[in-house]
Amino acid sequence: MEEKPEKLISDEGIRVDGRRPDELRPVKMEVGVLDKSDGSAYVEFGGTKVIAAVFGPREAHPRHLALPDRAILNCRYHMTSFSVEERKPLGMTRREVELSKVIREALETVVFLEEFPRASIDVYIEVIQADGGTRTTGLTAASLALADAGIPMADLIAAVAVGKVEGQLVLDLCDVEDKYGEADMPVAIAPRFNSIVLLQLNGRLTPEEFKKGMELAQKGIAEIYRMQRETLKKKFSSARMEA
Ligand code: UDP
Repeated sequence: MEEKPEKLISDEGIRVDGRRPDELRPVKMEVGVLDKSDGSAYVEFGGTKVIAAVFGPREAHPRHLALPDRAILNCRYHMTSFSVEERKPLGMTRREVELSKVIREALETVVFLEEFPRASIDVYIEVIQADGGTRTTGLTAASLALADAGIPMADLIAAVAVGKVEGQLVLDLCDVEDKYGEADMPVAIAPRFNSIVLLQLNGRLTPEEFKKGMELAQKGIAEIYRMQRETLKKKFSSARMEA
């Protein structure tokens, strides 16, 4: 485990990786990165690297799980064994099971499941490298992969964590800030409706800090949402040019 730096925020207000408190890490996004799945996306926030793949809508399997009036959405969040420094158990950990559930519940709020009775939509999120914010990066990638698969949705989901580090509110925590900071709050939003689809809080914030933290998250999310739409536009406009 990475050791705690002497200071997480310098006297000049600069963070361990050189960012200002309200800055995102360098972000990369790409869709259509895999051939075998119906939709896919690669998203990177600094050292956190995630691939999402989507299959469906396809016949639900096993068939007795199919629902007569809507599709089921399956979601698996998984960290590869090489994504972290310490030895990670090969099977699904309790944390991965929990994150799969909260990510699924967030995605269910935007996907038009009722359009595909008896079908399943399967979302796989693989964390290739973890450096804080893997659930938010995973959600951001999963919604891009769903859009890439052409699955009808009310909106994309954009997500980022905010937190408190040495008394200062910061956007998009890296692993060291997550581990040694006072609070970590992942937020996911469907920006078109400004509806919060995931909100968790590890640590403590005062009501005032919570309000400010949400504002900071919304600012980051607006930027992430813009990048998501650009990424999709780029793929589909180049596909049109090739046709
Ligand atoms: N982490 C780790 N090993 C684990 C789980 C997490 O090293 O088994 C690290 C990883 O960098 C992760 C960070 O701890 O991004 C924060 O984990 P948390 O559970 O808060 O979820 P996340 O911030 O990734 O959504």
